[in-house]
Amino acid sequence: MSDTIVPPATVAVIGLGNMGVPMGACLIKAGYTVTGFDLVEPARQKFVAAGGRVSGDMAGAVAAADVVIMLLPNGKIVRDAVSAMRAHLRPRAIVVDMSSSDPIGTRSLGEELIAAGIAFIDAPVSGGVRRAVNGTLAIMVGGEGATIDRVQPLLSAMGSSIFRTGVLGSGHAMKALNNYVSAAGLVAAVEALQVGRKFGLDPALMADILNVSSGKNNTTELKLKQFIISETFDDGFPLRLMAKDVRTADDMAHALGIATPLADLCAGLWDAAARELNDKANHTEMIRYMQRLPKS
Ligand code: NAD
Repeated sequence: MSDTIVPPATVAVIGLGNMGVPMGACLIKAGYTVTGFDLVEPARQKFVAAGGRVSGDMAGAVAAADVVIMLLPNGKIVRDAVSAMRAHLRPRAIVVDMSSSDPIGTRSLGEELIAAGIAFIDAPVSGGVRRAVNGTLAIMVGGEGATIDRVQPLLSAMGSSIFRTGVLGSGHAMKALNNYVSAAGLVAAVEALQVGRKFGLDPALMADILNVSSGKNNTTELKLKQFIISETFDDGFPLRLMAKDVRTADDMAHALGIATPLADLCAGLWDAAARELNDKANHTEMIRYMQRLPKS
């Protein structure tokens, strides 16, 4: 397609954290001209160390950009960032929210932007830092097909499984629901680990058995031995962000009038852990919070 955005087109990456840095690096590797922006200097320095160019302000980052990608903590911050960049966007620039934002807020923000002539889609990701580094993320994309067509090559530079989920906000809805399933699975795996350990089972053997049995899930396979039993707790996904995602899924359920008793419990548990542990805690440190709970 003639107006597809291909290298060496200019891309701005807003939010240079655990995900923004490696995803921006994938775009550089694919041949795009990338400028990053983050509010904090150490984050900007990390992008420079990864081979990126940075701007000291939002206007400088987005002024020449054909595509603006956001990897920010939540939808409220995305809305603030969009307000700061709006006046500086090029005509026909496409704004892509790859953060895990709340889908209802995304819909209203996107509709406002589209009414003002600014193309906007949501394209959150799953797979964590490891797959962000490899460019093999799962990406779920909501919004107009013609806009998605234009950025498809960029998405392919960052992900290997790209799904069109439907209307604006549907990518964010899917992402929140995915993380709810993942978060509930982590709690179940950690509870089983603790009970088994106290009974006398070997934790590593438990992981091996779960992984060839019907209890296998993302945590048993990719987190139990790697980050939880080893107590390294360093996979790059903060607990505060997981708590946000579970709460988003639960809020969606309530807004839609669906009874989700397990999601209600799970959201409460992750929120409590986020309050109890420090802001930098990894989500696999949920076990530390659970070990402090009163015994039943
Ligand atoms: P992070 O906290 O590491 O990075 C976010 C960055 O945004 C920080 O460097 C912060 O300084 C910056 N920032 C905040 N407000 C800003 C603003 N107004 N303008 C510019 N920069 C600003 O978060 P992350 O782990 O990179 O996650 C980013 C998004 O991706 C989140 O929505 C998260 O839920 C989602 N996500 C993360 C992972 C993961 O494994 N870390 C996986 C999938 C999805």
